[in-house]
Amino acid sequence: MLYCKDCQLLCEQECPQCGSRSLRKPQANDPVLLGVFEPAIAFGVESILKDNHIPYEKFGNLGAAVTLYVGTAMETYRFFVPYGEYRKSVSLVEELTGPAEPSQEHE
Ligand SMILES: [Zn+2]
Repeated sequence: MLYCKDCQLLCEQECPQCGSRSLRKPQANDPVLLGVFEPAIAFGVESILKDNHIPYEKFGNLGAAVTLYVGTAMETYRFFVPYGEYRKSVSLVEELTGPAEPSQEHE
């Protein structure tokens, strides 16, 4: 697993976002994109990270002008966690939201 420091993404050989191949091994304190969540889920993600004492950064995805246009319901939040806490964070989020696969309704 390699890391693009520009996009703060984990990837294998080439960054899926910027196409960079100048990647390095992730360090424990590198911020890594945990996921992008809508507000209702972001609230739960935030509290579960706090409960587990995982440091995180949260950024709104849309600028103020876009928020005015589409309304706050379309706002999403990007969460970053240190690489050293990434695996634990992913499993905590999966407990919250289910596996990151195309969602299927329970019967
Ligand atoms: Zn990149």
